[in-house]
Amino acid sequence: MAHMGGAEQDFVREAFDTNWVVPLGPNVDGFEHDLSEWLSTHADREVHAVALSSGTAAIHLALVMLGVGRGDEVICQSFTFAASANPICYQGAIPIFVDSEPDTWNMDPVLLEQAICDRMEQTGRKPKAIVPVHLYGTPARMNEICGIAARYGIPVVEDAAEAMGSVYDGRYCGTFGQYGVFSFNGNKMITTSGGGALLCRTEEEARRVKFYATQAREPYPWYQHEQIGYNYRLSNVSAGIGRGQMRVLDQHIARRRSIHRLYVEQLAGLPGITVVEPKSSTPFLPNYWLTTIKVDNEEADFSAACLSRHLDEADIETRPLWKPLHLQPVFSSCPAYVSGVSEAQFNCGLCLPSGPMVTDEDVMRVVDEIRNVR
Ligand SMILES: *Cc1c(COP(=O)(O)O)cnc(C)c1O
Repeated sequence: MAHMGGAEQDFVREAFDTNWVVPLGPNVDGFEHDLSEWLSTHADREVHAVALSSGTAAIHLALVMLGVGRGDEVICQSFTFAASANPICYQGAIPIFVDSEPDTWNMDPVLLEQAICDRMEQTGRKPKAIVPVHLYGTPARMNEICGIAARYGIPVVEDAAEAMGSVYDGRYCGTFGQYGVFSFNGNKMITTSGGGALLCRTEEEARRVKFYATQAREPYPWYQHEQIGYNYRLSNVSAGIGRGQMRVLDQHIARRRSIHRLYVEQLAGLPGITVVEPKSSTPFLPNYWLTTIKVDNEEADFSAACLSRHLDEADIETRPLWKPLHLQPVFSSCPAYVSGVSEAQFNCGLCLPSGPMVTDEDVMRVVDEIRNVR
């Protein structure tokens, strides 16, 4: 896991040396500044990043900012990690799940519009927000999704937790929605040992997010509270790690892409194995956070589960794909607009070793083992 660049320890030491071992401090401001600057190189608008304790907290505060409350409905991609939808429930709102389209594995724009229309018909009210996800770092069809969202006047909360550095139509993922979300958990593109960011469009919104993230304390000489707040700020020590990570971010992105390319080249022509990537390279430029494959049971003569067991015996760790949320017991009562795409991918997909510590030799060993399954 230790994919540190070197500068992290300097920033953390500085936090200790200057006694800023508390939430807030110069590293938090510096990290937010670095994030905003980096994002602005591929964005068509201002980006104001707010550093938070997790990606989940960032999604939660986006919903708070949008006034999502009890009984409201929020549309969420079904094919994702539970953290995309959990904050909807924290607010007492109801997740409405929408299935994926087969090319990007992300929210199907056609199903999205059907879901919006059907919810309006059934409840007489518009969904309060739409949460698309860029799964495994492949951008969702943001032009179509944002177009539909704009047509119905519904704000988009863009879950880019896995997509830091992914580009769609020349712009970074995270800069399309009303709010964008990054995660800096241990296994994401960069880590602060735990953390996240909410990407806002204006300074005013960012200020408001920081207010909610620090217990909604009003500007009085005493502790004055007029709203419910949260303890969601990133610590100054964690932000120090983040500042160091920003210096190696572009290298990490390039490395993940080159691991993916190597898998594509080396697994080409192997019967029944497909390395997943969008059919056309425009407008998609994924970061390939994780390289995923599909196993065609018939053609390969083995299943994804069987391949996973075989690799496990060779001491190679694979992961199943996210189980679609509409199939999760905890969300079984939530309305879902389903085509079967995510369930089919879930049954035949697998994540291969793709982290920044994975060497070309590691990739070749994985490929050899896949060749040797039978
Ligand atoms: C990791 C992840 C999150 C949550 O981020 P944390 O920082 O772990 O809270 C949300 N959505 C997706 C798609 C993720 O992969």
